[in-house]
Amino acid sequence: MAGAPYPVADTMRRVPAASPEVSDSMSDHQARVRFAPSPTGYLHVGGARTALFNWLYARSQKGVFVLRIEDTDQERSTEESTEAILRGMRWLGLDWDEGPDRGGDHGPYRQSERLEIYREALEQLKASGRVYRCFCSEEDLERRAAAVVDAGGHWEGYDGHCRSLSEEQIAAFEAEGRPAAWRLRTPDEGSTFWYDIVVGKREFQNDVITDRVVFKADGFPTYNFAVVVDDHRMGMTHVLRGDDHVSNTPLQLLIYEAMGWKPPKFGHMPMILGPDRKRLSKRHGAVSVEEFASQGIIPQAMVNYLALLGWSIGASGDEVLTIDQLVAKFSLKKVNSSPAAFDYDKLEHINSQHLKRMDADEKLALLLPILDDHGWRYDPAWQVAGVEEQEGYAARLIALLGGRFSSLQALPGQLEFFFTDDHAVDRQAWDDTMGDETVRQRVTALADALERQLASDGPASAADFEAVVRGLAEAEGLKAGDLIHPARVALTGQSRSAGMFEVMEMLGAPRVLARLRRAAA
Ligand code: GLU
Repeated sequence: MAGAPYPVADTMRRVPAASPEVSDSMSDHQARVRFAPSPTGYLHVGGARTALFNWLYARSQKGVFVLRIEDTDQERSTEESTEAILRGMRWLGLDWDEGPDRGGDHGPYRQSERLEIYREALEQLKASGRVYRCFCSEEDLERRAAAVVDAGGHWEGYDGHCRSLSEEQIAAFEAEGRPAAWRLRTPDEGSTFWYDIVVGKREFQNDVITDRVVFKADGFPTYNFAVVVDDHRMGMTHVLRGDDHVSNTPLQLLIYEAMGWKPPKFGHMPMILGPDRKRLSKRHGAVSVEEFASQGIIPQAMVNYLALLGWSIGASGDEVLTIDQLVAKFSLKKVNSSPAAFDYDKLEHINSQHLKRMDADEKLALLLPILDDHGWRYDPAWQVAGVEEQEGYAARLIALLGGRFSSLQALPGQLEFFFTDDHAVDRQAWDDTMGDETVRQRVTALADALERQLASDGPASAADFEAVVRGLAEAEGLKAGDLIHPARVALTGQSRSAGMFEVMEMLGAPRVLARLRRAAA
């Protein structure tokens, strides 16, 4: 970069880089961290992991977690996206102490409402002499870039063109009414570096950090300027974000330096890869938090898995952890510096473990909406009436499933036959069983015995069914299994199920009889 000399000599020695040793305890002040999404889409796993690690750090340090919406890009930001991000955060259980719809002492928390603050900060920069007016238009820049490239050179983004305009030139451009941006003078020599909490020392040569626009000709700050102003004004002690922001950090450090502000500590978390070790994207599968939710992933599992992704919890012990356990174990020192591959099977496994470990009430809260979705809850064919009975029935189903309550997506298939006669049938199992004349005769005999022996008034218990089945087996010289297996296929359409007598009790005698007769026919 050519250009007039200006006072940058010892700039770099004055950038107060964060201390090399990573400390998890803030001795002199409270930890303040933030999640700062740009609302240009949904909350994807990369963003969710950034949010989670900041949240875990804040909670583990009894610090403050701030949510800031970075919506200065008016064209790409949408209110729907902001809503989707907030929804995703709430679903994950990542509550914020300060932020939109919550308030706080450092608001507003949407960048679009902070323009005055950025303009004030610009005034401060102007006073320091560290910014200059740039009258180059997009076309000017493109033309010069093309010329540099044509000549075999490399265009870094700016060539210092307006650095050395004379007062007369500036006055002339202003008289013409030419729009002007403000650029930060960056040093040409030396380097800018920091000690990254995750990856260690990072260093960039200043000659590749061009004079960047901090305030655009349209009167809006650039992304990097707004972030620095906000992180400073909001008192951030640590900036933990994805490593796609590493290249912004040197410029941000130079802005801190120009403003005379102490920068926070920075930690850049490695990106999340797909199973093929290419950057995780839609072609690998679900990437948005809401998509995972719709696929039956529960928030406890999502949070647990995202925490494991990029954090060495240590070989010892269980990887299935509650959010409180994660807070208790969290340490920034253990955040991995190498990229992690998203493992959909492992997420599924963690999910099943969380589901199995839930208590009955939690399971009920998950099951009822699934029954509703299938129109099963208020089905008149389901012989229970009031809401209380329905919940009682659902609770009994949960008890019956036991450890098989391990996938929300599998539940409808596991429970369908309790609610409709028109349930799925394993054809192979059906034909193998009911294709045999002897078996059909046994099924008929069982139906007859049940009809004869079960009291016609009041429900039959599992023990009642069992007594009839075992009695018939004995009388016919059969093993109980010779009756139980065909009954299972007849009642559930499957060759495996929960305990047969409990299933019979749950179905009730009328439906048991009807299905046995249907199968025998
Ligand atoms: N708004 C930026 C993004 O969504 C994050 C900025 C930051 O964390 O510094 O990528």
